[in-house]
Amino acid sequence: MSFGFGILRRASHSQRPNSNKKQSLPSLFFSIFPRSFSQLHSQSQTQLPSFGIAFDIDGVVLRDHTPIGGSPQALRKLYDHNSGTLKIPYVFLTNGGGFRESKRAMQLSELLGVNISPSQVLQGHSPFKQLVNRYENELVVAVGKGEPAAVMFEYGFKNVLSIDEYASYFDDIDPLAQYKEWITKTVANQSRTFKEIGSRKSVHSERVQAAFIVSDSVDWSRDIQVLCDILRSGGLPGKEIGHQPPLYFAHDDLKYQATFPSERLGMGAFRIALESIFNRIHFNALDYTSFGKPNAFVFKNAETVLKQLASSLDHEVHVVNHPDDGSHFKTLYMIGDNPSVDIKGARQAGHPWFSILTRTGVFKGKENPSDFPADLVVDTVEEAVDYILRKERTS
Ligand SMILES: [Mg+2]
Repeated sequence: MSFGFGILRRASHSQRPNSNKKQSLPSLFFSIFPRSFSQLHSQSQTQLPSFGIAFDIDGVVLRDHTPIGGSPQALRKLYDHNSGTLKIPYVFLTNGGGFRESKRAMQLSELLGVNISPSQVLQGHSPFKQLVNRYENELVVAVGKGEPAAVMFEYGFKNVLSIDEYASYFDDIDPLAQYKEWITKTVANQSRTFKEIGSRKSVHSERVQAAFIVSDSVDWSRDIQVLCDILRSGGLPGKEIGHQPPLYFAHDDLKYQATFPSERLGMGAFRIALESIFNRIHFNALDYTSFGKPNAFVFKNAETVLKQLASSLDHEVHVVNHPDDGSHFKTLYMIGDNPSVDIKGARQAGHPWFSILTRTGVFKGKENPSDFPADLVVDTVEEAVDYILRKERTS
């Protein structure tokens, strides 16, 4: 699928006056199999779920690496008690990231005690895959915690460097580096990982064609400095002013719930810092694109993935009764902890989304928040799943 990048631009053009900126089954099928069709039809009404669930991760099922809100028990209810196979289609819809979907699925499986496949993990940076055609062999820089370059490499970007490694090619680019004792180790590790790629690089003459903020920046001062260098110079730090290369953020969350009692500053806060500084030192305002929730296409994509997952639960039944028109879900539940991200997004996406807000993360209030009210407010994710299963059994 393709994404409508045009609607995602956030750079304010008012701040930059100088910027112009079904397939039906063949009737033959029914004539050959009239009896089996009617059997499948009645079978499907009891077997094919008419609903699916999207879980946010941070502040809903996990706090850092600790399960919260009865999440392991809640998820187990979506599997068959005896066989352990998946009954209810669900995905994780998170703005977080920094690791490949396959690795994240493995981590989640271990932490939550259920078998989660990579296709069930939709991260903030997952849509970056859609940009591979444009940048496949171009030099791009990947920023953030975890393994940002490995993520991009798995998506198909063949000429990607983490900002750690990229910065290491430029002597003195970070005047504070000598005070950051952790850097040497990090770069040494990443250099080993990308030794082959790095050895054929000529980063001092090759322009960076795009920068991707894959996950939360670990070293704001260095990353803001190096990004400003790249973006102001047209992709060659230390050189003259040039046209700003495209800049992509995996999401724009201002804050998120981690282990500390109050919320932590997220990628949206980093974006504000970078944008504020860039706009003070450059004549054109920063131009960028943000992905992630609450953008409507994220929910549309989750619906597509849930539909594929539902069909894989009982492929034959699905094909007969539900041509590929995206219409078979009566309800899709978004369970999140952040009103301005999860709830706003589900509300904007409209039918068939139903929003459930938990009190285990960013939102801790008693009353439904007035700015982005959810369809339902509960204490925990387990309460949310119990509500869904009760409602779906009786409807
Ligand atoms: Mg959250």
